[in-house]
Amino acid sequence: LIPVEQALSTVLDHASFLAAESVPLEDALHRVLAADVASDVDMPPFARSAMDGFAVRDEDTRATPVTLPVVAQVKAGAPPGLRLPPGSAAEIMTGAPVPEGATAVQQVEKTRFERQSGAVAILESVVPGQNVAPRGSEVRAGDVVLKAGERLGPARLGVLAAVGRSSVPVGRRPKVALVVTGDEVVEAASRPGPGQIRNSNGPAVAAQLRDAGAILAKATTVGDDEEALAGAIDEGLRHDVLVLSGGVSKGVFDLVEGVLERAGVELLFTQVAIKPGAPLVFGRRGQTLVFGLPGNPVSAQVTFDLFVRPALLRQQGAADTARPRVEARLLRPVKNRSGRRAHHPAHLSFEPGGFVAAPLDSRGSADLVVHARANALVVLEADRTEAAAGETVPALLLASFLDA
Ligand code: AMP
Ligand code: MG
Repeated sequence: LIPVEQALSTVLDHASFLAAESVPLEDALHRVLAADVASDVDMPPFARSAMDGFAVRDEDTRATPVTLPVVAQVKAGAPPGLRLPPGSAAEIMTGAPVPEGATAVQQVEKTRFERQSGAVAILESVVPGQNVAPRGSEVRAGDVVLKAGERLGPARLGVLAAVGRSSVPVGRRPKVALVVTGDEVVEAASRPGPGQIRNSNGPAVAAQLRDAGAILAKATTVGDDEEALAGAIDEGLRHDVLVLSGGVSKGVFDLVEGVLERAGVELLFTQVAIKPGAPLVFGRRGQTLVFGLPGNPVSAQVTFDLFVRPALLRQQGAADTARPRVEARLLRPVKNRSGRRAHHPAHLSFEPGGFVAAPLDSRGSADLVVHARANALVVLEADRTEAAAGETVPALLLASFLDA
């Protein structure tokens, strides 16, 4: 039994960057950037009006109201370079270049424009720079705006577009084979017969894989049969990563470890001091990483999150691979009699003063319905047998934390 940290660092030590490739911007969502990106332009590229209103010289508005002749109309897209003579105003739109000589924009609500006379009354004085974003005030050409190792969400895709990247260097997505084992499992579409249960790990882990940016290249379900398992493992080892579900505990029909070893997989650990999920196999053959997840649905999902996901992200070049951790105040006590680091399903919410965690009443590591209600895992260290209501504990945010 090895500690969680040691297991995780073993995994990350073996998860090496696969390769960089170039993808169109529109396909880059959730990919990991493979190189720093610098801006090719100043932002804004010209002194830009932040308001619809009137560009003026601030010294012309010291005594208000003041009436100024409107000498021009500047709309967004107009070329910069217009000059504003002293004692005049230019009607200007949000996003338009502020004329040279103008030092501020007064918003339209604080003006009264008489179109017939072509004059505007400025009702409140302005200070220099008011409602004007100077050229390059956000970003200068050459500034690094995104760093290698960042995962690309919508906001970062916007940045890539703004700096002219229609194709993006990203880490290649790992190709993963998923092998679900168990004589008892039947697919979702069928009604389980006596002694059977539906295969929930297949779809859940496949979704976790996709969420982590991997490609599910091959999915197989096999019974607890050595020959069938050996065939599926053989095929699975031709991928970047092989993930198995079930068959890793100590039962007579838990065949995964033995078959992996006979297939030439070097086992790096087989037991982690974690709850749920102590039996957890990690190994490799050549460049292929192998994970044997416990069959219990909650164990499979939690160990995936803690070990497989970081490996997949690291293979894509991600700098951060861990789920965010926060501190939360417990609403009810939680116990940990396992002697291992325990992860208890909880529902986290924000209250004035910080996060509060409501531990959920789980029936254990098979209780996938309660796990699906959790948005966080409350963590109790191996030596902490109990945390009382009101105590502050670390909590790992799950992907579901961000689901509305
Ligand atoms: P195992 O790790 O194979 O000993 O399985 C542990 C428990 O998880 C058993 O109760 C299995 O029936 C259950 N289990 C195994 N595989 C799956 C699966 N694919 N979906 C849901 N439950 C499973
Ligand atoms: Mg089994």
